[in-house]
Amino acid sequence: NRTKHIRNFSIIAHIDHGKSTLADRILEITGAVSEREKRDQYLDKMELERERGITIKSQTVRLPYTAANGETYELNLIDTPGHVDFSYEVSRSLAACEGALLVVDATQGVEAQTLANVFMALDHDLEIIPVLNKIDLPSSHTEEVAQEIEEIIGLDCTDALQVSAKTGLNVEKVLEAIVQQVPAPSGDPDAPLKALIFDSWYDSYRGVVVLFRILEGTIRKGDKIKINSTGREFDVTSLGAFTPEPVQYKEFGPGEVGFLCANMKELSDAPVGDTVTLAKNPTQDPFPGFQEVKPMVFCGLYPVEPAEYEPLKTALEKLQLNDAAFHFEPETSQALGFGFRAGFLGLLHMEIIQERLEREFNAKLIATAPSVAYQVTNTDGVVSIIDNPSKLPEIQEIASLAEPYVRMEIHVPNDYVGAVLKLCEEKRGIQQDMKYLTSTRVMITYELPFAEIVFDFFDKLKSVTRGYASMDYEVIDFRESDLVKLDMLINGDVIDALAVIVHRERATRYGRAVALKLKRSIPRQLYEVVVQAAIGSRIIARERNAPLRKNVTAKCYGGDISRKRKLLEKQKAGKKRMKKMGSVEIPQEAFLAALKAE
Ligand code: GDP
Ligand code: MG
Repeated sequence: NRTKHIRNFSIIAHIDHGKSTLADRILEITGAVSEREKRDQYLDKMELERERGITIKSQTVRLPYTAANGETYELNLIDTPGHVDFSYEVSRSLAACEGALLVVDATQGVEAQTLANVFMALDHDLEIIPVLNKIDLPSSHTEEVAQEIEEIIGLDCTDALQVSAKTGLNVEKVLEAIVQQVPAPSGDPDAPLKALIFDSWYDSYRGVVVLFRILEGTIRKGDKIKINSTGREFDVTSLGAFTPEPVQYKEFGPGEVGFLCANMKELSDAPVGDTVTLAKNPTQDPFPGFQEVKPMVFCGLYPVEPAEYEPLKTALEKLQLNDAAFHFEPETSQALGFGFRAGFLGLLHMEIIQERLEREFNAKLIATAPSVAYQVTNTDGVVSIIDNPSKLPEIQEIASLAEPYVRMEIHVPNDYVGAVLKLCEEKRGIQQDMKYLTSTRVMITYELPFAEIVFDFFDKLKSVTRGYASMDYEVIDFRESDLVKLDMLINGDVIDALAVIVHRERATRYGRAVALKLKRSIPRQLYEVVVQAAIGSRIIARERNAPLRKNVTAKCYGGDISRKRKLLEKQKAGKKRMKKMGSVEIPQEAFLAALKAE
C-alpha cells in the first residue's frame, strides 16, 4: 500500500507569522535544500515576492523524511498564497491536502487571516496542527496564545508545538507531528483517474505546468489526458515532482502530488479547480467544476509615451499568461490616449501587477484611480456591469445603480474598538457583529461598500489602531446605492481618466478634496489653471492656480551651478511622467494625489 507513507499538508498563517521561514527550515531538515543552495524563503520564487514577503505562486515540494520510527515518508508540502486576494487559490491548495500546520506568531496571537485560513481548512476536513512560532523572542507569550487558539478556534492546544522557525528549535518535532497526526490519503489505483488541478502556470520552455493531486487512479507519462470542463485532450509529455528541483517520475498513484506538462499553450487549458482524467477511461465523478476568478478592482493603465503602447501590450500579455485572474482590454481615453483597462482580484493584486510591469518589463505607466465594478440598470430595464466610471450612461438613462459590498472581519485589541467602529461608520459600514474573542481581543464584523475600501481603508485602519488591527474580507453582493458620477475638469475640459463614481453624500467633500490636491500637485504653468469638480453640469468645487512667471532656477541664490543642474534634471525627469490633459500637463503624482484625496 503506497499511500500509507504519504502525507500531504499545507502551512497556514496570518501574514508575517512565519510560514515561509518554517517552510525553509523543513526543506533544510529533510535535506531538500543543501547548504549551498540555502537562502531565505526558498519557496518565494520571484524577487518581488521575497521583498514583499508574500507568496503569489504556490509551489509544491516533495520531501523524503525518515521519521523517528525508522520509516521513510513522502511529505508533500503545498505552499499556499497567504492573502485574501487569492483566497480561491488558497482553497484549491487546501483541497489537495489532508492536514495543515497552523502557524501562529506567539508574540502576536490569532489574527483575522489566521481565522479565515483555519475556517477554510476546516471546510476541507483537514487535520490542523497548531504551531506556536517565534518562541525565541522574549515578547512571546505562548500560554496566552495557546489559550487564545483554544478559545477562538476550539483547537486543543495542550500539546501545541512551540518552535522558532528562525533558529530551527523544535522544527523536527513538527515533522514528527505531521507523520503521526496527518492522515494518510487513500484511493483505488485501478479506478478511473480523478486528479485535481490546484495550480498552473505558464513556463516559456515547457508551456503550461499543471500541479495536480490524485484522488483515484494512476497517471503515467505518455497518457492521453482529458480536462473535464473543456473536454480537450492532451498527451502527457512530462511528469514529475518538485524536490524543489523538478524530477521526472514514470507514474503517480492515489494521494500523490506532482506536476505534468502536456503541450498546453494557455492557462485556460488547465484551470485551477478543474479535473484531470484519462481520455479512454474518464471518471464519472469529476470535481464540481471550477470557479472563474472574477476581477473586482479595475484601473486604466496608460503608457507615458505613445510609442510605448506596443511594448506595454506585450508586457501585459506576458503577465496574463501566468495569471488567470488578471484581465485587460484596450481602452482609449481622451486625456491619456491609447491604453488598457485592467482588472484585478483586489488591491494587493493590482499593486503587485503594477510593480511587476514597472520592474520586470521596464514599463513606464500612468495608472488611473482604482474603481470597483458597478451594476447599472437602465431605464429600459437592461442590467449591465460597468468597470469604468467614464462608461456610465447619461444620468437620465439610469434607473438605478448598485455597488458591491464586502463582509469584513476585523480583529483588534479592545482599546481600539471605538476607533474602528468610527472608521467603519464613516465608510458607510453596517455593523453585523462584535464579540470578545478573549478578554482583550475583539472581533468586529461589518458589511461595507467595496468602493470605500478601495480608497484608503487599510491605511486608515492601520493608523487608527497603531498597526494592531488585522482584517479579512470577501465580496458578498451588489446593493442599490445613491451613487453619482463625479467629473473633474481642468480649464473646462472633462478629464475622463479622473471620473469617479461616489456616493451622493460624499460627492461634495470628495470633489473639493480632489480639486485641491490637483491644484497643489499640478505644477504652476505660464497660464491660469482652473480645476473643477462637477456632477453632470453642476459645479461643486473650484480651485485655481495663478500663472507662473518665475524661472524654475530662480530660487537658487548665487551661482551654485550643480544645484541648478540638479533642479533642471529633476524637472526633466518629472516631465517624462507627465501627460497632456486638454491643454495642461499633469504629473502621475496628481493621479495618486487625487486617489488619496479623502
Ligand atoms: P510569512 O508571511 O508567514 O511567510 O512570514 P515569514 O516567514 O516571511 O516571516 C515574517 C518575519 O518573521 C520575517 O522577518 C522572519 O525572519 C521572522 N520570523 C519568522 N519566524 C521567526 C522566529 O521563529 N523567530 C523570529 N525571531 N523571527 C521569525
Ligand atoms: Mg511568506
